[in-house]
Amino acid sequence: MSELEYKLVVGLEIHVHLATRTKLFCGCELVYGGEANSRVCPVCIGMPGVLPVMNAQAYEFAVLTALALNCKIANFTKWDRKSYYYPDLPKNYQISQYDLPLGEAGYIEIPLETGRTKKIRIIRVHLEEDAGKNTHTLGNFSAVDLNRAGTPLLEIVTEPDMNSPEEVRALAVELQRIVRYLGVSDADMQKGHMRFEPNINLTITKAGSEHKTPIVEVKNLNSFRAVEKSVAFEVQRQLDEFAETGLTMASGNKSTRGWDDENEVTILQREKEEAHDYRYFPDPDLVPVEIDAEWLDEIKLRLCELPIEMQKRFVTEYKLSDYDAGVLTGDRFTAEFFDTAVKAGADAKRVCNLLTQTGMKLANEAGCNVADLGISAEDLSKLAKMTDAGDISATASAAIFEEMVKTKKAPDVIASELNLLQKSDAGELEAVVDEVLAANPDAVADATSGGKKTKKARGFLLGQVMQKTKGQANPKIVSQILDKKLS
Ligand code: ZN
Ligand code: MN
Repeated sequence: MSELEYKLVVGLEIHVHLATRTKLFCGCELVYGGEANSRVCPVCIGMPGVLPVMNAQAYEFAVLTALALNCKIANFTKWDRKSYYYPDLPKNYQISQYDLPLGEAGYIEIPLETGRTKKIRIIRVHLEEDAGKNTHTLGNFSAVDLNRAGTPLLEIVTEPDMNSPEEVRALAVELQRIVRYLGVSDADMQKGHMRFEPNINLTITKAGSEHKTPIVEVKNLNSFRAVEKSVAFEVQRQLDEFAETGLTMASGNKSTRGWDDENEVTILQREKEEAHDYRYFPDPDLVPVEIDAEWLDEIKLRLCELPIEMQKRFVTEYKLSDYDAGVLTGDRFTAEFFDTAVKAGADAKRVCNLLTQTGMKLANEAGCNVADLGISAEDLSKLAKMTDAGDISATASAAIFEEMVKTKKAPDVIASELNLLQKSDAGELEAVVDEVLAANPDAVADATSGGKKTKKARGFLLGQVMQKTKGQANPKIVSQILDKKLS
């Protein structure tokens, strides 16, 4: 088969669990795990005649996220019933937002390699309830657990603006970073807090004309790896299918496929139903939601600097590499901790090194982030400044950092207790240098000869001074004094 020229086109539909205390339309607590059907009430198990009441916090979390995704916020929305039958949905309908989503026409900026970014347009953001869960662990029987039924679920739909599996993954990762920064979701992939459904097709150029392959939607992906791998798999599968059958969008139907994580293949599930199959209509039990300017302003106050903005600022303002900036902005607390330490007057690269080389290792061991290690950003700043001033060596700074976490003492206190302060007093060091020079006339002769022995002799003299001060002299200062004396 000859190589076909093609362009990959991917749009993404994402569902995110919102971390409210209770469910979207009832008072049942949202707790992960727990005995099956222990967090349920007549509302969320779909008893007839019950009345749902909207959780205002869920709505605010949803609007906050839509704002962070640069969406226009609707000041009037309503709730609609999406009808379908499934054992994990005893009401036979899901409460969702159909024609009036709470947010529209936004975008998300995603980081690409080497500091580049790309804007992916957002079509809509709406709020809906999650269904329960079918489990198949009882031999010939299946069971239904409705603990999850009624969990507030944010649905985000992008335009088909992604053109590689890496871009799709980058968007998924960036969205996780955003909802965590906003504090609206734990976004724990292992707990199913985020689920991804890419819509994938190709535009193939053959003999000068373009052919679009039928769109495939891959359902329910719950890891970044599965997102990236499934898209990559579809590229090859659709290329092969086109080469074999010539099937295009015009001749084939949109279809839904599942992801087999073990064999790393997608599997045909069904041909896609249209929206009218769901018989959407306004829920008569729920009042519409109106957001006035005051409420919206209140929600806007909870916005924070977005991770991608912070990452870019660390590069431009602090001259960090994009890689370092990306590591530091991985979570909001680390990023803000770093930012505070730098703003307290320390060199950014020094603080960055302390955090990425020592702080994150310690945090990892303690199972927390660096901001929760029990040391203040000001003390970290002080440690960085001491290192740059030559009061302590870079090696000593790591040891002091560890001790700070252990004892919660200030870095200067620890440095003097552990005898790690370097002598930088020029007068005091000059006396030692003079002694060393007087005791080693041969080395002095070599060091001033300008011959090939110069460098070695100079190193020897520096070593002698370090030895005499038990390693506590600041080598930079000693070197300056030696320069002066030997010239
Ligand atoms: Zn309930
Ligand atoms: Mn949905």
